[in-house]
Amino acid sequence: MAKLLDKQRYKCALGAMQTVQAIDRALPILHSGPGCAQKLSENTGSSGYFSPNIFPCTSINEKDVVFGGVKKLDSTIENALKVIDADLYVVLTGCIPEIVGDDSGEVVSRYEDAEKPVLYAPTAGFKGNNFKGHEQVVDAIVDQYLKKSDEKIEGLVNIWADVPYQDLFWLGNIRELEKLISELGLIPNTIFGYKRGIENINKIPKAQFNLLVSPWVGLGNMKKMERKLGIPYLHYPTLPIGATETSKFLRAVGEFAGVDKDKVEAVISEHEDYYYYLIGRYADLFLENRVINKQFTVVADAQYSLGITKFLVNDLGLVPAKQFITDDTPKNYRDKITEEFKKLNFGIEADVSFETDGYKIHEEIKTHDYHGYPLVLGGYYEKEVTESLKGNFLNVSWPHQDKVVFDDFYVGYTGGIRLIEDIYTVAVQRFN
Ligand code: SF4
Repeated sequence: MAKLLDKQRYKCALGAMQTVQAIDRALPILHSGPGCAQKLSENTGSSGYFSPNIFPCTSINEKDVVFGGVKKLDSTIENALKVIDADLYVVLTGCIPEIVGDDSGEVVSRYEDAEKPVLYAPTAGFKGNNFKGHEQVVDAIVDQYLKKSDEKIEGLVNIWADVPYQDLFWLGNIRELEKLISELGLIPNTIFGYKRGIENINKIPKAQFNLLVSPWVGLGNMKKMERKLGIPYLHYPTLPIGATETSKFLRAVGEFAGVDKDKVEAVISEHEDYYYYLIGRYADLFLENRVINKQFTVVADAQYSLGITKFLVNDLGLVPAKQFITDDTPKNYRDKITEEFKKLNFGIEADVSFETDGYKIHEEIKTHDYHGYPLVLGGYYEKEVTESLKGNFLNVSWPHQDKVVFDDFYVGYTGGIRLIEDIYTVAVQRFN
């Protein structure tokens, strides 16, 4: 029997149009029904160049379901190439053309010799969510566009983190990761955001290695690039937030890249000195607030649930209640992620549940004894339940209604401080 999913935290795979949108001057061409893009776009900023309202779409209808929509797709690509000035065109398919069996890949292959690259990613909603759709887009770039390179640039590192736009902080996070990697003397290469795009995509095969900062999203892409392009990869499963994890992260990257250990330690100690100076200045506030929020819960995708849990335990000394991962993590990754929740300082282990149903999550939050008011970091859905328990709430994961983010970030030493500021800005309001 079909199940109802309460408070879903992701979109269908076609939501990967936001991954394409995050690549500077890349354009999604949608082979889908007319309502898909409208439903999937949201108010978290356009690419700055194309708005989702102008994405070319075949808008297939009943007639195309009967006779097929490939002709429409062909003319939509042809006209998009004529009238929209982009560097990269990515055809994304929705449910209807894939159900009726349109061979979209064959249509796209007719544009092999076009002046600009035209790629194709199968992203029908029934194939999975937008985390999987994101991987499909990266796979399409690797499979259909990139070629193995004999030329390597010493120190060039391709950085991959989690899903743009789904992660409200994607732009700031990836810029901060670039900054940290540069401080080690390495050369970061990313494809998302301002002034990156096709030039950086072209550099991917020349990298010394791929760096994946994510519990699971993108791991398949790394394996594919290792096989096809001969690029080794370092998988760092935790989004490094705050000093403890960021220092571990820099040591891991430094070791993998062969950076001199003294240099790595010098970078770490400069950051840590300032970080702990800031923490020390507000020690009284932390101690006071500990009486109020003894335990916390994070409700987020694997990336934030794990990253924030490690941060709150290791850097702030808070105690984890149950944590929830809401991104429908594929089953084969779950054991490893669960293990990561056991690698906390002070011998602490966090209980974690892979749960997509908001009703069940809220029932568990309501019945758990937080030994005081809960601190809940989650999607906007958690606001009401946290307020009903007189707890403190911070909106860190999708859906986002409480925060507008241009390029703010939670990654790294500075990101940890930003997260502390956000948490305690909420906490001090209790005293007003
Ligand atoms: S699930 Fe299918 S029909 Fe619905 S928005 Fe996604 S691609 Fe379109």
